[in-house]
Amino acid sequence: MVDRPAKQPALFQTRLMALSAALLLLAGAAQAKPANSAAAEPRATVIEHVYVLPMTPDGAIISDATVVIQNGRIASLNGPAPAKAVRINGKGKWLIPGLADMHVHLPSDGMSRAPKYPTEAPNMLFDTQDAMTPYIANGVTQVLNLDAVPASIGQRNEIARGQVLGPHMALAAVINGGEGRGRIVNTPADGRQAVRSVKAEGYDFVKVYSDLNVETFQAIVDEANKLGMKAVGHIPESFEGKLESAFLPGFSLVAHAEEFSKQSPNFTDEDAVRFAKLARKNGTWVTPTLVVMRWIASETRSLDEMKANTDLQYVHPILQSKWLTANRYHRNSTPKLTAYFDRMVEFHRRLVRALKAEGVPMVAGSDALTSGVVGGFSLHEELELLVGAGLTNAEALASATRLPAEWLGVDRDRGTVEVGKRADLVLLDANPLVDVANTRKIAGVVLDGRWLSGAKLAGMLADLAKRNTADRDKYDWLSLTRQ
Ligand SMILES: [Zn+2]
Repeated sequence: MVDRPAKQPALFQTRLMALSAALLLLAGAAQAKPANSAAAEPRATVIEHVYVLPMTPDGAIISDATVVIQNGRIASLNGPAPAKAVRINGKGKWLIPGLADMHVHLPSDGMSRAPKYPTEAPNMLFDTQDAMTPYIANGVTQVLNLDAVPASIGQRNEIARGQVLGPHMALAAVINGGEGRGRIVNTPADGRQAVRSVKAEGYDFVKVYSDLNVETFQAIVDEANKLGMKAVGHIPESFEGKLESAFLPGFSLVAHAEEFSKQSPNFTDEDAVRFAKLARKNGTWVTPTLVVMRWIASETRSLDEMKANTDLQYVHPILQSKWLTANRYHRNSTPKLTAYFDRMVEFHRRLVRALKAEGVPMVAGSDALTSGVVGGFSLHEELELLVGAGLTNAEALASATRLPAEWLGVDRDRGTVEVGKRADLVLLDANPLVDVANTRKIAGVVLDGRWLSGAKLAGMLADLAKRNTADRDKYDWLSLTRQ
């Protein structure tokens, strides 16, 4: 960052000017560029001869497009390329909107104060860039942080200022009931006040959590709705047997398929259809998060699959250690529990089909940072699982592009490839409409108008993995959490 002399006291400014003049003499006039000169202006980026998948509701594929990116926005889809531009050959490649993961948890300073990590997490400092690199390297340019703490606001601002290359971050703060730490409320009046606090503190959304009582949950959703804030989250256990009373105006997004399956003792198709109808009637969207349950089921069996997952090297060593040495799903595993999770994984596929049949919008989310679920990479696995459950490739892509932007209320700027939108884009080596797994074949990412080549992203990932591996011995979860 360049100091801004205008903000300094006059005497200091005078000295600074004298100093600048001296430096100017030393360095030679040619190297001193005023901030508003043409040379300092951001250059345009042009992606040529590329197939564009706009992901608008009826947007047809554009062949041989010339995508001009200027001042962070898409200036044109058919050229002409400005004279001074970074030119990228997009021949045979596919350009899609930046991807969104609508259910993430992020390592952040103070995360041990978040309700999801009640007591045992050591109060660590986490490097924001390291936490974000796996996301941008995977083409994820938007996340919904469902466990936002004060440090998350700091992370969001670091990204917004361009100090860190990371996804746009929407923040939901958890409100829970029962006992324990975090924002805990057990009366409707306290629930309403918690919503007002969450809004005043600068969070975008309210996340309702599992231990709220019925009346307090309803008051929170009502207050959020009155304040124009959407509520997202869990369906508390207190709603067992009265699920319909959770579906109030303002309860806008169910954060897991599991919130429904917990309410279905026998995992019947009738229940799946009933849940889908409830969601549709209330205008509630669903984030199925199939990938997290797949990993949990795997971990109850054995940790071998997780240990063999090469993506693990991009996770902070303290969390790798936690997942491997204090894995609660593995520790508490019984054959009965494993069988239950397996049945739930299968039920979630039927639930996705029922939601689709009822026309309930689904957004892709992975519950990243739950053990085994590696941020960035996990979104691609979620897309594959959504297709496996019955979405078309195009529907799965919409669940991670246009639909998240709509739900988040940022669709004026993001979610589709259209002239005038912010340039958050992913350049792929193969067509994701043929196979959604092609979203993994990333040739480069445009983040807020800035081109990040595949080589640059691979380098950032390699550097992160190298440091994580070198530091692994320093972070032993069991000894760090032992009091
Ligand atoms: Zn979660």
